[in-house]
Amino acid sequence: MRKKFIAGNWKMNTTRAETLSLIQALIQKTGTIDKTTIMVAPPFPNLEIAAGLVQNSKIRLGAQNLFWEEKGAYTGEVSALMLQDLKCTYVIIGHSERRQYFKETDEEVNKKTAAALKHGLFPVICVGETLEQREKGDALAIVEHQIRNGLAGFSSTQASSFTIAYEPVWAIGTGRAATPSDAVEVHGLIRSTLSTLFGTTVAEAIRIQYGGSVTSENIQAFISEPQIDGALVGGASLKADSFAAIIHAAEAVS
Ligand code: PEP
Repeated sequence: MRKKFIAGNWKMNTTRAETLSLIQALIQKTGTIDKTTIMVAPPFPNLEIAAGLVQNSKIRLGAQNLFWEEKGAYTGEVSALMLQDLKCTYVIIGHSERRQYFKETDEEVNKKTAAALKHGLFPVICVGETLEQREKGDALAIVEHQIRNGLAGFSSTQASSFTIAYEPVWAIGTGRAATPSDAVEVHGLIRSTLSTLFGTTVAEAIRIQYGGSVTSENIQAFISEPQIDGALVGGASLKADSFAAIIHAAEAVS
């Protein structure tokens, strides 16, 4: 069985002091967790303090983005080498806010994924359709396209390091989560696409998270679905109580 994976995307939130108190509270509230993978992704400036805090805990560190080049004249960018140096384990790639506000493409997702793998980072690759695409009946085709293009050219061995986050754009930060059955339908499509690309054994081992307005109230309905291997959580990951409740819900079904 795939280990459940709960990840917190803090986006552009938290000072260093808030990072300290949020992680300390989370460590305290997740001490009994041993079957669920936990990741937090603070903003870049807070990764160093976060790395120090989580080092003897069950919490793994993730970054929210990276650039594909290793170093050089790329003002404002952060490389996989730097994230590795900061003791990050995971990196979120292709979040819909990156795609929407910074015009990231599947080709860039592909290059970022390659850079992450080169430096031993586990990529959490985000896919998902907009409301307009869903209403036109294109959700499955869009997600399949994102998977096929974003993950083109990787070997099955490389793919075994992937996590996919299905995040319908219309559900992110809106309070309007997908229904578990809609999520399960897209997760099924993602897994069958992964199976075509990387073979069934590898596809069956890749964790597919749902993301989009996950809360401590609705997590149960998602996480009890065998096809849903965890959650990528935005807003509800900024409060230790709600994020810990989501983690405990995942642990309870493991
Ligand atoms: C996200 O940032 O990936 C996300 C799903 O946000 P929220 O949980 O706030 O909808």
